Amino acid sequence: MSLYGGQKAEPFFCAIVKVAVGRDRFTVTGLKKRWKPKYRDGVERVTLKKTKTDAEWKELLSEEQYYVMRKKGTERPFSGKYNYNKATGEYLCAGCSSPLFSSGDKFDSGTGWPSFTSPHSEASVSTEGDESLLMERTEVLCSECNAHLGHVFSDGPAPTGLRYCINSASLKFVENE
Ligand SMILES: [Zn+2]
Repeated sequence: MSLYGGQKAEPFFCAIVKVAVGRDRFTVTGLKKRWKPKYRDGVERVTLKKTKTDAEWKELLSEEQYYVMRKKGTERPFSGKYNYNKATGEYLCAGCSSPLFSSGDKFDSGTGWPSFTSPHSEASVSTEGDESLLMERTEVLCSECNAHLGHVFSDGPAPTGLRYCINSASLKFVENE
């Protein structure tokens, strides 16, 4: 019986995943080539994923939401309903209602899309490398239902230096009472 075989190896692997995931928050562009975590807070989220068939998503989402969230589309800048939203509250996933971003982390980037310095929590979103459109970008996805939300760039303001550039179509705002 090997010390590193079978079940004994698993906690060690999970610890490595957590360390790598923790670093990802601050070195998104540098790290994505070496490590592309699908789930930011560990392997067990795989079983919690809210999956639906393509037909079910089409039924549930508007045409624009389906195009953005399931086909990785991008809404036109300054066209989204939350670009100028300054109300206090939470931004949920328009597909599965998971909390994704908070108004306290929203800032005016001038880009025409809602922009945030960080997600609601480490576990809210996952990231993946995206080389489409001849650009090297990091895609941001909902951890729960894997919906496309937007991209994250490393030119954001303090304290994180990150700019989560998110489509309004992927979000559902709930104002605090
Ligand atoms: Zn979702």
